[in-house]
Amino acid sequence: MKYDKTSKKADEFISHEEIMETLAFAEAHKDNRELIEKILVKAAEGKGLGHREAALLLECEDSELQQRMSEIAKAIKQRLYGNRIVMFAPLYLSNYCVNGCTYCPYHARNKMIPRRKLSQQEIIEEVIALQDMGHKRLALEMGEHPTLNNMDYLLESIATIYGIKHRNGAIRRVNVNIAATSVENYRKLREAGIGTYILFQETYHRKTYEALHPTGPKSNYIYHTEAMDRAMEGGIDDVGIGVLFGLSTYKYDFTGLLMHAEHLEAVFGVGPHTISVPRICPADDVDTVDFPNSISDDIFRRIVMVLRIAVPYTGMIISTRESRRSRESVLEVGVSQLSGGSRTTVGGYATSAENEARETAQFDLSDTRTLDEIVSWLIDLGYVPSFCTACYREGRTGDRFMSLVKSGQIANCCGPNALITLKEYLEDYASADTRLKGEKLIAAGLKMIPNLKVRERATRNLSEIEEGKRDFRF
Ligand code: SAM
Ligand code: SF4
Repeated sequence: MKYDKTSKKADEFISHEEIMETLAFAEAHKDNRELIEKILVKAAEGKGLGHREAALLLECEDSELQQRMSEIAKAIKQRLYGNRIVMFAPLYLSNYCVNGCTYCPYHARNKMIPRRKLSQQEIIEEVIALQDMGHKRLALEMGEHPTLNNMDYLLESIATIYGIKHRNGAIRRVNVNIAATSVENYRKLREAGIGTYILFQETYHRKTYEALHPTGPKSNYIYHTEAMDRAMEGGIDDVGIGVLFGLSTYKYDFTGLLMHAEHLEAVFGVGPHTISVPRICPADDVDTVDFPNSISDDIFRRIVMVLRIAVPYTGMIISTRESRRSRESVLEVGVSQLSGGSRTTVGGYATSAENEARETAQFDLSDTRTLDEIVSWLIDLGYVPSFCTACYREGRTGDRFMSLVKSGQIANCCGPNALITLKEYLEDYASADTRLKGEKLIAAGLKMIPNLKVRERATRNLSEIEEGKRDFRF
């Protein structure tokens, strides 16, 4: 199929032929130092790269050039995101699912797991447990089921969550990760006030996609691949894309991911708000040995590093699928959002440990630390854990958010917001040890705010938080 990034047809904006040609181009030039160095000069400007250039960087095995890529990725991350890491938690609403995804234990044929859907009262209990940890930003997750967990259930759940006020806490941004749906449903999600709509492509390789999704609505590759176009037509400004690395070859899916981002930018004037980089994990009836395309930690780091260079303005997310070591490695070269204290069982936050053992997690977690432990670890590494949700609440979404990042104004906006929301966390939820080191980090961070007026206002807000006031933002 002819490649056309402005086309609305999935097999034209994710053209198999274009991906194959890109991979052949990368293979043919992988030792072409002159060309790679030219691309690195362009990369260092921080304005991004095309999918062919990025595919070549990913193919390059020269350790010195890889070292330079790593330096460029770190510099871009520092310039655009500073040392902030945005925190969130997933909330599983229901594991009823009619799809047949072979890598997920929630697939319809798995009769061995208990199926469960949270009632509105149970959602309140889960959210209160999450708020008591300190979370302000959630990603709602559920299987696909036309009657048990339909759009009405999801909309009711979102309203319930935004309505909960508990002590000093409130969930201020609800992101949603649900199956591909219609423009009309996306419009309803927008009206419900969701933050980002997240949907992983799983794999861009159509034949592999169809083999791994044998049954259910999700088996329709075209409908799934065109979902983000429908979401944007439905008025959702911030969309989050991703692939499940390990399903198909990483080179193919890496190229597809960038082509998807280029398509959204070409058609809607704004690329994806976030890219997620999950890797396949073991789970109930899922064994990773059945997935020979699983990737090593080294390749994983290189993927994140080249993505950071190729799409500098797109946030990058990793979950607790990754171990502490792997998280440390990718935080350094590109990741900007992290989940913490997560449970991937339905009802996993409010339930007792004993009950939890009987439930089935969507996948086995590698990082099982509490949110406080994660916050403390991030501070030790020199990062500022941020609970900020200001952009979305100030209407800075889609291209308005992108122009803020591109103008470099983010340092006078996201920087102080991160300090203010970390301060709230320290006051309300942190252990004594985390609080102590967090205070030091905030004091040092204040001095780094470039604009004097902003710095003064932030200093004032920090004192007001100590007096019990909450929810300041720039
Ligand atoms: N049901 C919706 C869907 O499939 O798009 C959204 C929620 S699903 C719970 C979120 C994601 O979990 C899927 O898109 C898939 O990539 C990921 N996932 C499923 N099984 C997994 C596994 N064994 N290891 C890692 N991630 C997995
Ligand atoms: Fe259902 Fe999503 Fe799991 Fe597929 S990945 S079986 S759609 S919950």
